[in-house]
Amino acid sequence: MRTQRQVVDYSLRRRALLREVFSGRVGTYEVCDASPYLKSAAKFHGEPTEVRCPVCRRENLTNVHYIYGDELKQSAGQARRLAELPVLAMTFREFQVYVVEVCRGCGWNHLVEQYLLGRDGIVGAGQAVDAVAAGAPAGSLAGTGPARPTTRSGGRPRTRLRPGAGE
Ligand SMILES: [Zn+2]
Repeated sequence: MRTQRQVVDYSLRRRALLREVFSGRVGTYEVCDASPYLKSAAKFHGEPTEVRCPVCRRENLTNVHYIYGDELKQSAGQARRLAELPVLAMTFREFQVYVVEVCRGCGWNHLVEQYLLGRDGIVGAGQAVDAVAAGAPAGSLAGTGPARPTTRSGGRPRTRLRPGAGE
């Protein structure tokens, strides 16, 4: 997506957690605990994938996209279809997207990645660059290196995202 930025990839954490599961140090009941909300979000707003569930290996995973941000008002915390995101990205200046993979069979769920979307990410249009600079802490967007994992997730990869609960 054009305005996608500050991508944080959780695949390493996912792999590390799965290693714990397969070695028996973490029980499947601990990781296959998708809430009814998450399962229904997967059913109604989820994006089917070709990826098999790593735990039960019976179902393909579904990706659910949750959106957060002050501008979204009552929509914050909702699951949205992937196809809706580009429209929202042109409507709002900035919002956070959390992608969560869910197995609708066994309930495995894990944060896949998070990123920012929104008009502020459009570079090339002069005023958009100014908007980015104005809205960001000094220097935070100056570098071109890879996005650092935020400390906001508290070091726990398996955030429990509940629609409507806010951040
Ligand atoms: Zn499964």
